[in-house]
Amino acid sequence: MKNIFDLSGKRVLITGSGRGIGFLLAKGLGDYGAEIIINDLNQEVVVQAVEQLKSHSIVATGIAFDVSDKKQVVDSLYQIESEIGAIDILINNAGIQRRHSLIEFPEKDWDDIIDINQKSVFLLSQEIAKYMIPRGKGKIINICSMQSELGRETITPYAASKGAVKMLTKGLCVELAKHNIQVNGIGPGYFDTEMTKALVNDEAFSSWLFTRTPAARWGKPEELVGAAIYLSSSASDFVNGHIIYVDGGILASI
Ligand code: NAP
Repeated sequence: MKNIFDLSGKRVLITGSGRGIGFLLAKGLGDYGAEIIINDLNQEVVVQAVEQLKSHSIVATGIAFDVSDKKQVVDSLYQIESEIGAIDILINNAGIQRRHSLIEFPEKDWDDIIDINQKSVFLLSQEIAKYMIPRGKGKIINICSMQSELGRETITPYAASKGAVKMLTKGLCVELAKHNIQVNGIGPGYFDTEMTKALVNDEAFSSWLFTRTPAARWGKPEELVGAAIYLSSSASDFVNGHIIYVDGGILASI
């Protein structure tokens, strides 16, 4: 029987995949047969991530660029498409977090969050659509968050950006579905990564999180891989405009 989750012959660009969730998704999709293109800001980080994937017999290349810079996005996607090959799946994963109270939130931090978390999704999706539409196929997966649905003290701009990514996912679906392009999102709950290190190390926060989360624990980043394989594979060819929340049940409870 055909394996509907098989990703052999598929090429995936994952933004911000030099480390953290992006790298784990790269490893997980690579294990299912996908060819991986790593992206990160830093060339050294890209090279190291590519080497690690290759050591697991995954076909991988990489390209450093800033996802919030339109010229770099346009030039880099052109370079990938013309020199490496067609991008079948784009995962918009790059993201940042900055924590301040509302009153003290610096305008520069707001701008960075909106540019990197939100504008980048628009820029990359707009550009990749120019290649995917003539091919009549493609998949875009946007990494959202529980904060696409919920607010929380000190991270109002982050929540605003992730709420926008949820709506970008729906808007892109509406515009692209007729071209056989599926646009879906994955909304991680609280995962133990570099981004959340300060919270993981904060005992008071962790014990609050365990009472707030029905699964009563932090998520392990590798637990996001199943949703990414599903949304990258032919198993999800008629699934469009949805967000899969992988959150240990947080959004199901008050
Ligand atoms: P992370 O460990 O901080 O990794 C983020 C990656 O994005 C880093 O490799 C970073 O590169 C890269 N990056 C940052 N700005 C970039 C830019 N302008 N251009 C290209 N790459 C850039 O974060 P993570 O926890 O893996 O998060 C990944 C995604 O999941 C984010 O969208 C985040 O909002 C989302 N998320 C995470 C959690 C969680 O619990 N961790 C929960 C919900 C959603 P540098 O290292 O060079 O800065």
